[in-house]
This record gives sequence, C-alpha cells and structure tokens, in this order.
Amino acid sequence: MNLEEFKVNGHKMIDWMYEYLRDIEKYPIKPNIKPREIYNSLPNKAPFEGEKFNKIFDDFEKKIIPGMTHWQNPNFHAFFPANSSYPSILAEMLISTMGAQCMMWDTSPAATELEELVTDWIKDSMGLPKNWKGVINDTASVGTICSLITAREEKTNFKSNHEGIQNNRFKIYCSKEAHSSVEKAVRTIGIGSNNLKKINTNSNLSMNFVELEKEIKKDLKNNYTPLAIISTFGTTGTVAFDSLKDIGKIAKKYKIWHHIDAAYAGVILFLEEYKHNAKYIKNADSLIFNPHKWMLTNFDCSLYFAKDKNKLIKALEIHPEYLKSKESEINNYKDWSLQLGRRFRALKLWFVIRSYGLKGIKKYLKNHISLAIYLYKRISKNKNFELTTELNVNMINFRLNPKLKNLSNKQLESLNEKLINNLNKTGKIYLSHTVINGIYSIRMPIASTSINKTNIEKSWELIKSVSNDIIK
Ligand code: PLP
Repeated sequence: MNLEEFKVNGHKMIDWMYEYLRDIEKYPIKPNIKPREIYNSLPNKAPFEGEKFNKIFDDFEKKIIPGMTHWQNPNFHAFFPANSSYPSILAEMLISTMGAQCMMWDTSPAATELEELVTDWIKDSMGLPKNWKGVINDTASVGTICSLITAREEKTNFKSNHEGIQNNRFKIYCSKEAHSSVEKAVRTIGIGSNNLKKINTNSNLSMNFVELEKEIKKDLKNNYTPLAIISTFGTTGTVAFDSLKDIGKIAKKYKIWHHIDAAYAGVILFLEEYKHNAKYIKNADSLIFNPHKWMLTNFDCSLYFAKDKNKLIKALEIHPEYLKSKESEINNYKDWSLQLGRRFRALKLWFVIRSYGLKGIKKYLKNHISLAIYLYKRISKNKNFELTTELNVNMINFRLNPKLKNLSNKQLESLNEKLINNLNKTGKIYLSHTVINGIYSIRMPIASTSINKTNIEKSWELIKSVSNDIIK
C-alpha cells in the first residue's frame, strides 16, 4: 500500500467505523460459533505474495467480524466493560500514525510530559494526595506487580533485585474477593501463592479487617514478615469496598505496605459523593485505576499512582549504556514499570478529558448510576427474581428465584446458568456470573459507553421473557 492508497483506504475505514458504531446493536453481541471455526476458515499458510487491501478488508468483514464479541454494544454487561469513546478512538488513530515508542523523555518528550500532565489532572480530580505521582501502564495486573516489587525491595533494602529473595518468610494479605491478578503478582515476584493470605469477608463482601489484624499478629508471632496488604476499592464480583480507613490503620500500625486496587471503581472518586474516601488513601503506598474500564478510554490504559515515586523508580530502574540519557529533571517512564517499550497512551486520556471535561465525565458516571438504581428497583419488585447483594454503585447482582417453586440452591444454580446461556444465545445481551457466599448470581454492571434507558428497558424485558420460557 502506498501513501495515496493509505489515504483512500483510511477514508473508507472511517466510514466503516462510523457505520459499525451506528449499527452496533444489529450485531449479535456474542458470536454463535464453535471453537476453531475462525482458525479453520482461514488459510493455514501465510501468503507469499502481498495481497490487495480490498481483499484483506473483505475477509475482515466476512470472516473476522462474525467471530467477534462486540464489547461496545450498549447491552454488553458481562465482566467489566472496556469503555471506548469517539475522541479516544481518534486519539488511538493518531497514536498509531505517529507510531512513537515512549520509553524515555528523549524518545518522545511531548508524550512523556503529557503523561505527567494527565496523570496529575486525574490525581487532582480523584482527590489523591498532591505529592503522589502517576504513570500509565497497560493493565492493572502490571500495576500490582510493580507495587509488590517496590514493597519487596523496600523491605529488603533494595537487595532482593540483585540477590533474589533469601529465606522467604514474607506474607501478603488480600480478601477472598480480591482479583486474581493479586495472586498472579504474588507468584510473579517470587513470594508464592502459599504466602498469600486470603482473608474472609464480611456479609457485604468487604475484607474482614479484624481477621486481617489477627492473621498479621499470628504471622509476626511465628516470625513471618508481613510484606503487603492489598485492599480492593470495588471488587470484581460485586463492587464491594474494603475499608480503606481500617485497613490503612492496620497497615500503618504494623508498617506494612498498602496497595489499593481501584481498577474498576477508582473513577467514582471524581464524584463529590464518593470523595470522602480519598482522605484514607493518603496513608497507602500505591493505587491503581483503569480508565479503560469505566472512563471512556480505549483499552489499554491503566494508571498507577505512587506515594513515593523514588521508591518505585529505585525498585524498577535499570540503565544499560544504550539507554542512558543526559537530561535531568525529566521522567523516563521505562523506569517506572516493567516494560521498556511504551505506547503513547496519554494522548487518548488527554483527548477524553478535554472532550468531556470533568463535568461531562461526572455526568456520564451519574447517568450509569441512576440507570442502575432504576433497574435495581425494577428487579426488586419482581417476585420471580431475587437481588443477591445491595446495589454497589452501578453493579447489580441478582438471580432468578421463582418463590413458588421452592428450589434448592443447586437447582437455582442450574436454572440461572441456563438463563445466562439462553440470554447470551439471543445475541441481544451479554451477561456473566459470580458466586456470592455460595449463591450463583448474575452480574450486571451498567457501564457501557452508549447505554441509555431504552437499552435498560429492553434488556429487562428480555431477561423476564427468557426467564418465563425457562420456568413455565
Ligand atoms: N483488579 C480488579 C478489581 C479487576 O476487576 C480487574 C479486572 O477486571 C483487574 C484488577 C485486572 O485488570 P487488568 O485487566 O487491567 O489487569
């Protein structure tokens, strides 16, 4: 493809993107295909001769699109959303066009300085302490690894990077509802899953901090070294909130590193009604939050905030000759995280924040929260359904439970599994599940970028009608 053809094809693709997003509800959200169907439909050898773009694009439309899950459909309610928005998509196009690798200030000064600026903007908007500093990673999983490496290095006087962990006596704590990325991070940094204590939760699924303190005391008595506590501000299953206040106190009392996983719900700190939580963050050591979940920014974009950026850098920096920089007073973000090469993610955040403004972002969040309240109330009034937790921000957890049928938990599990499967098969909605205190529940976060009240009404009608077919 030459530059002129790039221009013609680029225009065509913008038209395609426009139509895709305009008609997104016409695509079945979850494709109805069998494993390996796509793989087997494509040639098993790479083409020797280059092919015409039209042909490639044709195959994209005919063979790839039917096998895609359409995450931007407003009726996608599975897992957590991967928000996207027009300004963010356009920024992604510019990022790809420039193709800059933003590992150091020298390799892209504007990218580096914009990263500092947008992370400062977000830090202020969330009410995080002024002296904290942010960096943009691909995912929260990486952020948690960076946090735990910093904790490990600090505790070992920055020796374990060189000598490896000697005589591992470390213990790390999170709740049973913490995301699996915590355990992965604990494995990755060489401490081992067996040294991760998953603390029981209270009935609202927040960490039982009384038990946390008991475990810490027990470990100290047995000559273990409590290394870090990970609290979750918005758990994956139900968006439950660990008490930052109480866990923060415990971390301070026993001088334990405290990392906050706010990957999904961190964005609510933009809202005045949730701002009070920010004051408990100042005693923590790090916090992660993903604009790529619920803040209108295309995947990937995950923020890591460090109380002390110098500790983070000291734990992660490495300076081979070919990457030495003569500049001072600059940030070389390669030293703030795991990977060397970095995309220019700050641009999409800058486009999003400027396009929506803080006012627009708050309005966006509040709209989702009020739609969730609306649906939650509708479900609560229907005798065939049961809400399985309170409404946490914009996350509804519920199950089909026709009271008259008097079904056991096990029977209800198969009933609700069937309900999710049948609903997902319609292609008009996509839901996933979790288990809450032994109860199989449907999760429904209301957070798609373009969702509106009509979508909610239609989804609820669909849920009721598919349920009626199952229970009749
Ligand atoms: N933490 C929480 C609470 C999550 O819900 C998730 C993913 O859903 C993660 C961490 C991991 O996020 P990522 O995919 O950015 O690594």
